[in-house]
Amino acid sequence: MNLDAPHSVKYKKQSEALELIWADGSKSSISGQALRRYCACSVCRAKKQVGIDVITDKAQVSNILPMGTSGIQVIFADGHDKGIYPWPYLQAIAANRAMELIN
Ligand SMILES: [Zn+2]
Repeated sequence: MNLDAPHSVKYKKQSEALELIWADGSKSSISGQALRRYCACSVCRAKKQVGIDVITDKAQVSNILPMGTSGIQVIFADGHDKGIYPWPYLQAIAANRAMELIN
């Protein structure tokens, strides 16, 4: 049992946002663009380090896959599928604290 794991993870196509309900009942909504901005895969990190904006007009999410009990993998509409998002990282993105973690 992973205490960080949310009760519910859903991608809402209409609002283009990931909606999470955490164990304490609080809710978070993270846009597809925010997920892409904070993608921590090696390719996106390298681009960010040289100042390339990784957000494209296709930052929509096409699929969300569970990564065991520790988080999710996000597949973007442009085919980018390297992003792994552990629960604490999603909490940080939702709380606008992800910049501290990724730099
Ligand atoms: Zn990436």
